Amino acid sequence: MIDQWLKDHINRATIELSSLCNYAPMHKKCYAHAASKSILPRKIITNILTDMESIGFAGCVAFHCYNEPMIDPRLQSIIEQTKKTIPTGTIHIWTNAWYTSHDLLCELVESGVSRFTLSAYTEAENERIREMVKGVPCKIKICDLFTRGLDGRNTTWADGAPRRYRRCYAPFNDLMHRADGSIGLCCYDCQKTTVFGNLYDKTWHDIMHDNFEKMQRIFNNLSEGNRSADCIPEVCRHCRRGR
Ligand code: SF4
Repeated sequence: MIDQWLKDHINRATIELSSLCNYAPMHKKCYAHAASKSILPRKIITNILTDMESIGFAGCVAFHCYNEPMIDPRLQSIIEQTKKTIPTGTIHIWTNAWYTSHDLLCELVESGVSRFTLSAYTEAENERIREMVKGVPCKIKICDLFTRGLDGRNTTWADGAPRRYRRCYAPFNDLMHRADGSIGLCCYDCQKTTVFGNLYDKTWHDIMHDNFEKMQRIFNNLSEGNRSADCIPEVCRHCRRGR
């Protein structure tokens, strides 16, 4: 019953491959610039994928959170492994586009990527990216961060008036596996104030089953827009987002 519920509610599995981003030194608003170095081992990635396949998961798998996935030398083989393990799922790569070219994007589509989101941090980058993605055979979105900038979520949980009534589906809609092995609340909880378990200590299946009631209680309240229930993490009471 738990497995069926998870299958029905997990829309995307985000697997943060590492805590490393080549743009971190210049983006002080991003949590990555302060994060300590972690690289998620292949055996943990394999465990996540095989356990998710065993419940029938066929949603999206993504490899970004506060990292840059395209600088990970394992990326192409991890994409191929994901496609082999979860053949009916989709793969989303969100990149700062520093290590990209037209041919490289096409090669990754051949390996199994179905969607790219590329962040443009300058006007010149925006032009380069728009030219580069022409003819790449998958869904493409360009995120123009040079006009709106980063959102400063580093302080989201501490800086603002409470946003109590907005609905959020994040804890399951986008299941967050961080580079230190933790399964956490969501990408907005960058400081990992709420963690459900660590994949260095337990399998994905055991973490999800052992914490199911707690996670489901949080999910049910957030999805109804109730951010004042006792079970709701402090970060959600101040978060301006809903996912
Ligand atoms: S309310 Fe904000 S912090 Fe809480 S789960 Fe949703 S996105 Fe994350």
